Amino acid sequence: VPPQVDSAGATPVMAQFFEAKARQPDALVFFRMGDFYELFFDDARQAAAALGIALTARGQHAGEPIPMCGVPVHAAEAYLSKLIRSGFKVAVCEQMEDPAEARKRGSKSIVRRDIVRVVTPGTLTEDGLLDARGANRLAAVAVRAGAAAIASVELSTGEVEVWAPGKSALASALAALGPSEILVPDRLFADEAVSAALKAAGGRVQPLPSALGEPGAAEARLKRLYGVETLDGFGALSGAEVSALGLIAAHLETTQAGRTPSLAPPRRAGEADVMAIDPATRASLEIERSLSGAREGSLLAAVDRTVTAPGARLLAARLARPLLDPERIEARLDAVDWLLARRDLRRRLRETLKGQGDMARALSRLALGRGGPRDLGGLRDGLAAGGALRALFEAAEGPLEATPPAELAESLAALDLGRRPELADLHASLSAGLGPDLPLQARDGGFVAPGVRPELDEARRLRDDSRRVILSLEAELAAQSGVALKIRHNGVLGYFIEATAKAAEPLLRPPLNATFIHRQTLANQMRFTTVALAELDARIAQAGERALAIEMAAFEAWRDLVCAAADPLREAAAACARLDVAAALAEWAEEAGAVRPELDRSTAFEAEGARHPVVEAAVRRSGGAFTPNDCRLDGQAVTAPRLAIVTGPNMAGKSTFLRQNALLAVLAQAGCPVPARRLKLGVVDRLFSRVGAGDDLARGRSTFMAEMVETAAILTQATPRSLVILDEIGRGTATWDGLAIAWACAEALHGTNRCRGLFATHYHELAELERRLQGVANLSLRAREWNGELVFLHEAGPGPADRSYGVQVARLAGVPPTVVARAQEVLERLEREAGAPAQLGDLPLFASPAPGLAKAAGPSPVDEALADMDPDGMSPREALEALYRLKGLS
Ligand code: ADP
Repeated sequence: VPPQVDSAGATPVMAQFFEAKARQPDALVFFRMGDFYELFFDDARQAAAALGIALTARGQHAGEPIPMCGVPVHAAEAYLSKLIRSGFKVAVCEQMEDPAEARKRGSKSIVRRDIVRVVTPGTLTEDGLLDARGANRLAAVAVRAGAAAIASVELSTGEVEVWAPGKSALASALAALGPSEILVPDRLFADEAVSAALKAAGGRVQPLPSALGEPGAAEARLKRLYGVETLDGFGALSGAEVSALGLIAAHLETTQAGRTPSLAPPRRAGEADVMAIDPATRASLEIERSLSGAREGSLLAAVDRTVTAPGARLLAARLARPLLDPERIEARLDAVDWLLARRDLRRRLRETLKGQGDMARALSRLALGRGGPRDLGGLRDGLAAGGALRALFEAAEGPLEATPPAELAESLAALDLGRRPELADLHASLSAGLGPDLPLQARDGGFVAPGVRPELDEARRLRDDSRRVILSLEAELAAQSGVALKIRHNGVLGYFIEATAKAAEPLLRPPLNATFIHRQTLANQMRFTTVALAELDARIAQAGERALAIEMAAFEAWRDLVCAAADPLREAAAACARLDVAAALAEWAEEAGAVRPELDRSTAFEAEGARHPVVEAAVRRSGGAFTPNDCRLDGQAVTAPRLAIVTGPNMAGKSTFLRQNALLAVLAQAGCPVPARRLKLGVVDRLFSRVGAGDDLARGRSTFMAEMVETAAILTQATPRSLVILDEIGRGTATWDGLAIAWACAEALHGTNRCRGLFATHYHELAELERRLQGVANLSLRAREWNGELVFLHEAGPGPADRSYGVQVARLAGVPPTVVARAQEVLERLEREAGAPAQLGDLPLFASPAPGLAKAAGPSPVDEALADMDPDGMSPREALEALYRLKGLS
């Protein structure tokens, strides 16, 4: 909260500002002054710094200059966007009337102003502020009687969802939503589970007074938001759900300043319906975003062939929440298959969709009073495209052809204007009435087509004719006076006659001063009017105002039609998005050679010839070929192991193999084809992926703790239907500690959790588990030595890796030959003296003198440094750095 400025003794305008500020103390106030939004006092200081614009002063308050900065209204969106991204909230305080109206009330009257909106990250609707291909959700968390609920709204499209995850699943539910703003009753910050989930989920947290979530208040607000008498129509909502929805309603009331958004009824997105993927797993699998945070390099980017923004958002949402019910998944896959078999139809379908606007977002903007003629145009074109899409399917499918599967048929039905009278009316009215050139704002006028409304055509004719009369008047007056004059126009004077001060002399003297009435003297110019010109001016202004008033009325009427058709419009928009996704996935399947997965409720996992879509693309780009791999697991441990221990040298492709199998499950359950020759999958209820700290150089050792916390979560949550991939667990600690932990984890996963799992490790000792546990088998990624060089085959096969090839990797990395030779010698000795020594100090390595080093009484610094090193756990670069360090010690 910014420092308080005492408002006493303020000028009337400043008093207005103080009042606005008092209502939104934690927001920057964008205070409309003519063509600018101005910010004052501390708001100005903060905004000027964040935006890199000049901080100046306007007038005085309490004897001090008032700090001020401003942004032009026409460019305000860019500045708003920057402020929101920097973490500010912005309250937009508009002029609510024309300055002329204020003047009518009296010479001292000032323009009425009011806050029309508070802009926060979760409540954006403008295209300029939103990512077209990404969702922008506002979520709220509530807890009642120990049960947690999340409500979320995508204000830009009107989708509303409620979730009732267990408290322990809050983080993964929030992560699946990826909200940009999360509302939390302030009381809940004391709740450990909630604060931990908020931290893991990311997104801006907005505390709200807990009272807003109380049952009575929440219910009343929710009814107001939807304009309903009872909530019964929404199905049974729990207390926590009503409370979370109530928080959203409260936030919308304040931020939208009383305007009611057009929202779909809340849809229940049960935790029971979707694969649980916690935030860490999501991040490490790079499903929607790569580790760098970009869309580029993610699974989504690799498979996304959608041609519309709503399609892209839908695909992202599906990948974020893979389903559990094989039937629902099959329905999606049926649609993809059907389009896969019809290449020509698919091509046309995609072409028709490509030009489409974002109907859902246009609808929301119009409902919130923020839309313009272009949004109407988008709806008109979208509805027209819907008809064209239906025609495509009808033409492609004669009566004897197989009819499209349900998912497609339902989408086509939603686009059937014949069955949706509201849509048909809207479409007819927009097609007939909307002109070809559409301005962004309704008040710019000119969007109603000519020939539709006679009064409008009449007013426009009068306005334009009078403009022509003015041109002839100019010539007439110049001839009559012999003065070089021009007729100009501005917002203050209207039309006026202008001449240079010198040329204007005769106009001030008789007889011409009888006609020419002086209005203004500027440095070099003089301005006049005449009775005829003033009359014309009034006529033009009037005609223009009439024309605009008629257009504004037309716009409002359309807006009402749109709001009345909100539900079918939203369905039509969703239908287009579904068609886009189905066609896009078919397109990708064809391109990438992806196949339809076979799903059931077993615990099988049989992948044949599978690939990692992202790594494959990267390998291809650099001219290589990706090696497909099989992977067989069986939760029952009958046809295949339950848990595979994956070994192989660094760079052999272990992580790629692990992740590709997890990604197959995500893709398959999202209803996407999978990059494999075949996949048979018993649906996975929870997916876990953990990557060892050793891979994360930048974060150092403290991540060992984080890794253990995450491992604990897996061991407590994985079920016999889960899939777990663990990459190099235990690497962030001393060798024997790490081995012991890895060993115990593998045993627990196998025997207690009984989930399907892939366990990559550099502890070759774990290979021993295969002999001891019935459901464990070894897998390794092969490398071969060839002419003393190491060749990675990237091929997964049964059995443990025979050795780690750390020494060969060191050679590849450019470690000097003498060092590599010495390492080879030490290695051979170690291998001869097999058996696990009790302590590092007992390792034969440290008992044998290194060449060129005098053996001192105790361990030398080099010995100590060596003891801390773990060649198997090093990347080539780390190995090189370690060598430099050793060299510095000797
Ligand atoms: P590891 O985890 O064993 O150290 P990675 O999985 O990180 O190895 O793979 C190292 C590199 O090898 C990858 O970046 C990729 O370029 C290549 N690679 C991995 N798997 C394959 C494969 N199946 N076919 C071709 N190249 C692969």
